[in-house]
Order: sequence, then structure tokens, then C-alpha cells
Amino acid sequence: MVKGPGLLLRRGSDTLLACAAMLIVALLLGLFEYLQLDHRQQEALRTQAELVGRTTAAALLFDDAAEARVLLAAFEAAPAVASAQLLRSDGHTLAEFRRAAAPDWLERHGGSLATEVTVSGDNGPVVGKLRVRAFRAPTWRGLASVMLAAVLIMALALSVVALASRRQRARVRAADARTHYLAHHDVLTGLANRERFTSELAHVAASGAPAALMCLDVDDFKLINDTRGHAAGDAVLRAVAQRLQSLVRSHDEVGRLGGDEFALLLRAPVDQRIASSVAQRIVEVLPRRIEHEGVSLKVGVSVGLALLPEDAATAEGALACADMAMYQAKHAGKGAWSRYTPALGEAQRERRELAQALRLALAREEFTLAYQPLFDGHGRLQGVEGLARWQDAQRGPVPPGQFIPVLEEAGLVGELGLVLLKRLRLDLDAWADEGLHCPPVALNLSSHQCRQEAQRERFLQQLHTLRLTPREVEFELTESTVFEDLDSPVSVVRALQSRGYALAIDDFGTGYSSLAYLLRLRCDKLKIDRVFVDGVADRADAALLVETMVRVAHAMGMRVVAEGVEREADRCRLLALGCDLFQGFCLSHPLPPRRMAALLRDGGVVVPSPAQEGQGRAEPAC
Ligand code: C2E
Ligand code: CA
Ligand code: CA
Repeated sequence: MVKGPGLLLRRGSDTLLACAAMLIVALLLGLFEYLQLDHRQQEALRTQAELVGRTTAAALLFDDAAEARVLLAAFEAAPAVASAQLLRSDGHTLAEFRRAAAPDWLERHGGSLATEVTVSGDNGPVVGKLRVRAFRAPTWRGLASVMLAAVLIMALALSVVALASRRQRARVRAADARTHYLAHHDVLTGLANRERFTSELAHVAASGAPAALMCLDVDDFKLINDTRGHAAGDAVLRAVAQRLQSLVRSHDEVGRLGGDEFALLLRAPVDQRIASSVAQRIVEVLPRRIEHEGVSLKVGVSVGLALLPEDAATAEGALACADMAMYQAKHAGKGAWSRYTPALGEAQRERRELAQALRLALAREEFTLAYQPLFDGHGRLQGVEGLARWQDAQRGPVPPGQFIPVLEEAGLVGELGLVLLKRLRLDLDAWADEGLHCPPVALNLSSHQCRQEAQRERFLQQLHTLRLTPREVEFELTESTVFEDLDSPVSVVRALQSRGYALAIDDFGTGYSSLAYLLRLRCDKLKIDRVFVDGVADRADAALLVETMVRVAHAMGMRVVAEGVEREADRCRLLALGCDLFQGFCLSHPLPPRRMAALLRDGGVVVPSPAQEGQGRAEPAC
């Protein structure tokens, strides 16, 4: 903190005031002590004079000057006495005492005091007077030693007070500095916080100088935080902060805007080319593995870039632009960077509107389920996947690939899960009323759906309330969903397994494909992703991969589902490669509930017709 002149002045005048107060106290003390000492010396001198005076009565009566001188010599033993004069009753001096030793400086300049006592004979008449004069030096000496002691005590007190107040000031200064630091920095990473960063940005924007702003978001940070714990999340944030700082120049600013959001301000000289190359370096260099307590975490970032004053002339405008570009980068596939364009603003607006419409749709429970059957090699119905459907009044049917990410981002996908469980209950009940029995329906669980304990609890509670048994429902998890701590007491995977629900790993081959994890998980089905299935009849490499996956899955006791089977030739090849179940347009599109009921009524066989949602399957021909 900078010391203000006012503060310095106040501190100086405080000290002066304290010294003046001490001085006044010292003066009063000195005066009081002086009066005391003076009075005591007067008394002592008077007593001495009376003692000696009493002995001189006979000498005065007999006018014996020699005897009187001898008696007055007693004053020799009282060093303060300067002189004494014995006077007869007629006023003439009988004898005198004068100190032989030369007086010292204090005795010469310190003044004197005098006393006079009358000398009487035995029977009462006054026979003379004794006049004694003494140096004031003993009074001054006494006063000096008392004052010296007082000054020493006061000086000591003053220095103790000064020391204490200096310490106090140092503490206040340190607290001030800490408060100032906290107000402008992020404690976890030591970077500028949102307030400081935006004020720097506003400064740069107001100057009109060219600058580049980047908004960065750590990919899958919530997943790391939720599955690996907050300590791991903190380690990731610290590592990202360090790496970002190492990638910019000293006069650039790096800030943490909150959560897993970082921002970077590149000051002039900077242009589109330089900013782009920095963004490129960030997405290339940053994604390294971070080791935390023996676990290696892969961390990447998505970066959005906006240029000042080209894209926006204010801090808020630039942040909004960079933010939009960052979302664009995230949606384009994580670990990428993107530059702001005006078209992005429009896309963001649409996304916000969609989120709003989805909120309303959830409240009105407008979502339905489409049921896509799974068949075995003989064409028998063996399972069903329940897929979310939503028909918006203005937009028409919106595919789940479009609305699920928006719900995930808005933290609403858990609500969708609850609505779909209700919907499934209604459809199952309607079929049961017709005497139809459906194989277990597999619902998709999003990785965002059961992260928080409250969400998990509500989901499990809903299953219980709706009496959805393991014979009626099972679940599909993508690898990222199951990338949670299976040993955690709140693992949703373990909770579902312990209640007897069957699980399938969805989109296998597109994620981590961790075999060790598969082994620990012990799922019932492994669904091989469409990318390996599509055209497998003509692709030896895909066939090899499918064959390997089938072997591994079988070794672990899992059934293998080939999903997205569009061609009969592929289905035949997949059957030959050992796949157990088949799901795809060549067998059946996802069916609305009434079409599913028809399929169930026909015992899992419907008349083939052109490929279209709601249509049936072709008879297996291999
Ligand atoms: P997914 O779980 O892999 O579901 C299969 C998707 O592949 C479905 O798309 C289905 O219609 C489509 N499909 C099936 N056979 C074929 C085929 O032969 N060819 C092609 N090209 N596609 C085929 P859909 O219904 O659009 O769902 C897309 C994704 O949306 C799903 O992929 C799933 O990840 C997600 N999703 C759907 N419903 C839900 C849900 O209720 N909850 C959650 N969390 N996600 C859901
Ligand atoms: Ca699925
Ligand atoms: Ca899938």
C-alpha cells in the first residue's frame, strides 16, 4: 500500500502529542519532587541547627568564643552546610563556621537556603541565635536522580509503545496488502481475478489500442471435478494457469474469470496473425497430462478469440465476442480455437432461445420416447432402446443430438431423465393393458445427468416410485459417463448395478476404450459404435477391429450389439464376426409407441417398408 501524506502527518503529530504529554507529566513530577525535597532539606537544616544550637547555650552565656567555634565545627559532618553564625543576644557574632573546602559547581550555582534558631539557657531566657546557611545542591541532586529515573522510565515506556505501534502498523499494512491482493487476484492460481482482468481490459479498450482477447474453458472440467474430486480439479486449474503464463509475454495479462474459465489479454503490438498463432499454440501445447496423486489427467482447453477494436470496442463487448467464439470452439470439438464472427452471435442467440423453449417443454413434459428394437441373428426381438423425442411448435421435430447438448449445458438433462422415466412407465402400462410384453427398454444416461448426489438420489427415487423393475428398464452409458470413481459410495453405476439393472456401454470405441475399466465395470452389453459398423462388409480394417472388440467383450461375458446397421451386407458380416445383436435402420427405425406396440403384437416381426422413422424391419437374409 502507498502511504498517503495525510497518514504520515497524522503519525508525526501523534508522536509529538505523546512527547508533549510526557514532558508536561515530567515537569509536574519535577515540580512536585522539588517542593518535597526542598521542604525536606529545610526541615533537616532546621533540626541540625536546633541540635547544634542547644549545645551552644553555655558558650553564649559565658561568652566563650573558642568553645563556640569548637561546637560549630560539628557542622563539618553535614556536607550541605556552607556556613553558620552564632550571634549573642545583642546581635554581635560570637563565633562563625565556614566550610574550608572550595564549593563545587553545583554548590556555587545551585543557590542556598538559610535557617535561624534561637538559643536559650536552662531556665528559659534567650541567650543568642544560630544562623545556618546550606547549599541547595542536595535538593538538586535528589531532583536530578528522580528526574533521571523518571525520564528513563518514560523513555522505556515510549519505546515499548513505539515498538508495539510499529508492529501494529506492520500488521495493518500486511492485512491491507493481503486484502488488496485478494481483491485483485485469484487465490488458487495467483492470476488476476475477474475484477482486475476486466478493469485492465476496459483500460485497453478505452485507449483504442489494438489488442486480442481470448476466453478459455477447460474441457470436461466438471467431469474431472465430479469424478476425481475437487483437489484434482484444483491441481488442473493451477497447472493450466502456469502453462498459460508461460505462453504469453510479460506485459500480457492472464486472468481467471471464475470456475474453469480463463482469459488472456494480448496487448499491442498484436494483430490477427500473432493472436491466431498464440491461440494455436495454446490448444497445441496445453493439452498435456497432469499427474495428481498418482492419477494422470488429460487436460485440454477450448479457446475463443476476439480482436479489439475490430470486433468490439468495449470490455463487455469483447468478452461476449470471445465467449461466443469459445463456445463455437467447444462445439466444433474440444481442444480447438475459434475466432469470433458476427454469424456466431446469431448462432448463440438461437441456442439461448432453444434453451428457453426446452425449459418450457420440460415443465410441460412434452418429451416422448421412440423405441428402436434390437434383434438377434435370427431376427428375434431381444431388446429395445428408448430414444428421446421432442417436437417443438415452431421448430418441428428437434433431433436429440441438437437438444441434449443444450440441456446438458443448461444443467437440465437430469430433468429430462426424470420426465422420460415417467413417459416409459406410461408406455409400458399402455402396452401391458393390451396384454403386450416388451423386452427391457434401454434408456441413455448422460454423463451430466447423475454427477451431483442430489440428482442421483432423485433419479434412483424416481425409478423406485415408478416401480420400474430391471425387467422393464436398463441403461446405456457412454464411456465418459462411466468415467467415474466406481469405488465411490455415490457411484451411480454401482447403485444401478446393485439394484439389478443391466448396463450397456454405448458408442464403444469412440472414447477411452479402457479395457481395465471394462473389466471392473462388468456390463451386460457392449454397443459397438456406428463408425466401425458402417461399411464393415467392405472394410477389412473395421472388420478386424470389430472382431477384436467382440472377442474382448465375449471374454468378459458381455453380449455385443452392432449399432447403426444400415446395410444387410454389413449385418451379415457383423453376424459372421460374432456380434450378438443388431440395431439399425436396415432392421428398424426408432418407432413411436403405437408402432412399437404393433411390433410387439406381431411377436417382434413387422412387414418391411421404406427406411423411415416409424417403419419396420427387413427379414434377415444371411
Ligand atoms: P445413441 O445412443 O448412439 O443412439 C442411437 C442413435 O443412432 C439414434 O439417434 C438412432 O436414431 C440412430 N440410429 C439408429 N440406427 C441407425 C442407423 O442405422 N443409421 C444411422 N445413421 N443412425 C441410426 P438419435 O435418436 O437421433 O439419438 C442421437 C443421440 O442422442 C443418441 O445416440 C444419444 O447419445 C442421444 N440421446 C437420445 N436419446 C437420449 C436420451 O433419452 N438421453 C440421453 N442422455 N441421450 C439421448
Ligand atoms: Ca444409446
Ligand atoms: Ca450409440
